[in-house]
Amino acid sequence: MSSVADASAQSWRRIYFNALSIPFWGVHLLAVIGIAMLGFSWTGLLLAVALYVPRIFFVTGAYHRYFSHRSYKTSRWFQFVLALGATFTSQKGPLWWAAHHRIHHKLSDAPGDLHSVKQSGFWWSHMGWILSRDLEDTDLSRIRDFAKYPELRFLNTYWMIPPVFAGVVTFMIGGFFALVWGFALAQVMTWHGTFTINSLSHLWGARRYRTDDDSRNNPVLAVITMGEGWHNNHHHYQVSVRQGFFWWEVDATYYVLRAFAAVGLVWDLHGIPEHVRADQAMSSDDDAGPIASDVAQSTL
Ligand SMILES: [Zn+2]
Ligand SMILES: [Zn+2]
Repeated sequence: MSSVADASAQSWRRIYFNALSIPFWGVHLLAVIGIAMLGFSWTGLLLAVALYVPRIFFVTGAYHRYFSHRSYKTSRWFQFVLALGATFTSQKGPLWWAAHHRIHHKLSDAPGDLHSVKQSGFWWSHMGWILSRDLEDTDLSRIRDFAKYPELRFLNTYWMIPPVFAGVVTFMIGGFFALVWGFALAQVMTWHGTFTINSLSHLWGARRYRTDDDSRNNPVLAVITMGEGWHNNHHHYQVSVRQGFFWWEVDATYYVLRAFAAVGLVWDLHGIPEHVRADQAMSSDDDAGPIASDVAQSTL
């Protein structure tokens, strides 16, 4: 596995235009050319949004809050549903995604962070890191807790099957119109919606907590990404299932997970200890990071 410094220093052609990036750019072209051919349609836009929402939920609720941070618990069968749903978003497999993300938190904005704007520039942090063939391997030592499940290892290897299946089924049900709006545009929105958290969320917004990185809180990004825009909150206390720490910080993923908990699909949602939430660290020298022993007193 190459170091991120070596990988990001490669040529544009090698990072952004390689064999595995052909489907990525192909879906972009399908969206742009398809909409140009079909013309604007409110029905099409509604279809794209309707199929964007479940996709972005699986990115944040599954890949991020479950597989990367274990912010709640669930059964083995529902864990598989979460992993399968997330592979439909075309962001590689669950073990790859979570293992890479854990490095982001370990080395946030320091050398070695796999997608840091500060270290490697905007475009690399936005999508270079995921398109680069030099970062394709999954470091299983970072994700041993989930790598022990054979069904997750299978999905991690064959992650491309679900999105291809989704494209074919969308076309069979709704023809070219559905393929363009419901598959291609929804997929492009999912990619760039997710990627804003790696790029813009470390550039644009307010910093409530004094974290060792450039993470920001941004209400616009929070709406677009179902709650991920409260990224400074998240870097301050990563294991919390909710990233909007206050009632006015809209966090749609958290609301869905609360609904899942209400019907018993998930449980042990990890809350925020009151003193961690109240810590206005930007105005003091205190450094309150995640503290596992606080779980018992945490609030949801
Ligand atoms: Zn995270
Ligand atoms: Zn971050």
